[in-house]
Amino acid sequence: MRHQAPLSRHRSHRLALLLSMALHLLPAQAQGPAAAPSASSPALAAQLDQLVRRDDAQSAVVLHTLQTLRQNLSDETLAHPEYLAWLDMAEGQILLADGDRAGAQRMADRLAAQNGQLTRSQVLRGEIASRDGHLQGTAEWARLALQTLERDCPRPDLKAAIEQLRCDYRLAWSALRLLTRTQMAEGANSAAEAGQKFALDLAQAAGDNRRSAFSMATLATLYQDQSQTELSRRWITLALQTAQGDPQALGQVKANEAILAARVGDRKAQRQALDEGLALAHEAGSRRLKAQLYVGLNDYYMQMGQPLRALQAAQPVLAMLGSLPDAQFERVIRSNMAVIRIQLRQFEQARQELARLRELNQGNTNLVQLSTQLREQGEAWAAAGRPREAILAYHEERKLSAQLNARNRESALQQLKIKYDSERKQRDLDLLVSKQALVDRQLSNRQLASQVGYAVAALLGLSLLLGGVMVRRMHLANQRLKANELLLRAQSERDPLTDLANRRHFLAVMNEQSRQDFHGALLMVDIDHFKHVNDQHGHGIGDVVICEVARRLSHAVRQGDLVVRWGGEEFLVFASAVSSEQLASLAERILHTVADMPVHSADGPLRITVSLGFAHFPLPPGELPLHWEQAVNWADMALYTAKSRGRNRAMGIAAVRAADRNSLESIAADFEAACSNEQVSLQQILGPGAA
Ligand code: GH3
Ligand code: MG
Ligand code: MG
Repeated sequence: MRHQAPLSRHRSHRLALLLSMALHLLPAQAQGPAAAPSASSPALAAQLDQLVRRDDAQSAVVLHTLQTLRQNLSDETLAHPEYLAWLDMAEGQILLADGDRAGAQRMADRLAAQNGQLTRSQVLRGEIASRDGHLQGTAEWARLALQTLERDCPRPDLKAAIEQLRCDYRLAWSALRLLTRTQMAEGANSAAEAGQKFALDLAQAAGDNRRSAFSMATLATLYQDQSQTELSRRWITLALQTAQGDPQALGQVKANEAILAARVGDRKAQRQALDEGLALAHEAGSRRLKAQLYVGLNDYYMQMGQPLRALQAAQPVLAMLGSLPDAQFERVIRSNMAVIRIQLRQFEQARQELARLRELNQGNTNLVQLSTQLREQGEAWAAAGRPREAILAYHEERKLSAQLNARNRESALQQLKIKYDSERKQRDLDLLVSKQALVDRQLSNRQLASQVGYAVAALLGLSLLLGGVMVRRMHLANQRLKANELLLRAQSERDPLTDLANRRHFLAVMNEQSRQDFHGALLMVDIDHFKHVNDQHGHGIGDVVICEVARRLSHAVRQGDLVVRWGGEEFLVFASAVSSEQLASLAERILHTVADMPVHSADGPLRITVSLGFAHFPLPPGELPLHWEQAVNWADMALYTAKSRGRNRAMGIAAVRAADRNSLESIAADFEAACSNEQVSLQQILGPGAA
């Protein structure tokens, strides 16, 4: 009986797989294969530029197009060895955008080893450091690259240098952007302003509207930082005009516009810019931009005091972070999540978010960001009637603020010194002294303000604590309502019997990742001879057994692993970050946690065992990319083998000898034959008492 079930299941997996692969291929085919690049280098550079910014398609599709370009290029390559370096750079950037940090690093190493490509490798390394959230590293690499780039791109005749290909303006622009980001985080605004003006000159000399618009938007932010509101408004308007006709760029500028509006408290303009930006991100199919705008929306709802909506807006970002890791994004969203949880009085979850945030903030030298995070947390704790936590947060924030003020003061002095190191030394020295006095006064004002804030927060917390009984009662009722709303939403992706995630939830998780190459481990678990339980003890007791197995599975996995009720008495465990050794011990743990102790039922204790099939993807040693549906199918085939070899055991796929996707397919078509002729090696783990 059993041998027919998996066969038909395999067939339906494969059908669904074919269909989904066909769907994935459609957009790429509609765009046609990569056109053969013309011999002119500007055309190739522009083509690569397009590829790198493509954020709509899966990276596999983009990399494939790049590969085609590489092949079509071979003739010209002899004449221009430079082309190969361009391709490597583009590949590195695409890999990095897709979260493949090691791949990007490989490309940077490769570039560094090529003649004359050191600068390019430095910019790529800067981009990697930036994605990691390392301010210092980012700035160091960018400065190194700019030493060469500034020489190659002399300001008086930028246009000529760009046309003669002496100046790679894209590279210089990227290096400047990396440096600006660090400078802005460190409050070195005038240095950042000078850098962005140069970046704008470069983009305009090359007639590159997208980069021009980005530099203008950055300048707008810088001027707002310096309270030059009118100037800021003019630059953002110019940026919006310049980005017209390019939805992705315009969407990005809209995201900037929303931030500017938020800072001056113009909620209406903020909301409008976010909505327009999201529509544009949608039009451009840009995943990263969409996530960025959702971060903005999450901020917006927090400022509007709507934590539940903020929570909702955070979901697409959290989902995206799984497939496109980005430390900077994650810091922002985790910090917001912590505050939301405090506001919702979900203190345990808040503490978990804070712990994760602390991990993410390891090595974060962005003091502005860190102290803002602490201030928001302190305010939230105080408002939630938790003065103790509020005071702790304010203490930490004050320590940081003191550091920050000292540093700002130092850099302000340094900048003034540079500015006035000229003939008019004597007069300017007086100015310096008076400016210093001003800075000192500002500093002490700020310290006073922070002390007052600290006292007010403590008082606020105390008064809330004393007078809060009534408010609390209302709050609790409200919370219950809100919790019900959340529950309803969550229920559609939960299995009502076991309260585990259901298949729909797993599908949603997979669709968010939407990748051809599934990464992580899968374990397919099925209760042995479950029909006997139903037949001998009735369905009611059958249900009890299913629930108990579900509970034990949830205890056996680690936090972050996903346990899904896949079907009747079948469960799927998805462990996204687990090594092969850990996976085998997880399988063993599952066998034992189910079988070691009987399940208690109205008919007395029942001994229950399970069988399971497991594998780590991509499959070793070839690591050929697989769609997640194929991955599930492999785990299922291993489960079937565990059943046929006597049950109460786990079979893991240790190695598959397949040269390409086709041979992988044909192995899957006759799995058992492949196991016996050793194309597939299996690892067997016995359950308690099995032989
Ligand atoms: P094997 O060891 O080969 O897995 O044998 P088995 O008896 O477990 O075989 P199979 O997996 O085909 O049978 C599963 C049975 O589980 C069939 C179905 O009636 C029963 N079942 C499915 N869903 C539920 C449920 O929600 N509650 C109960 N009580 N039984 C269920
Ligand atoms: Mg079964
Ligand atoms: Mg079954």
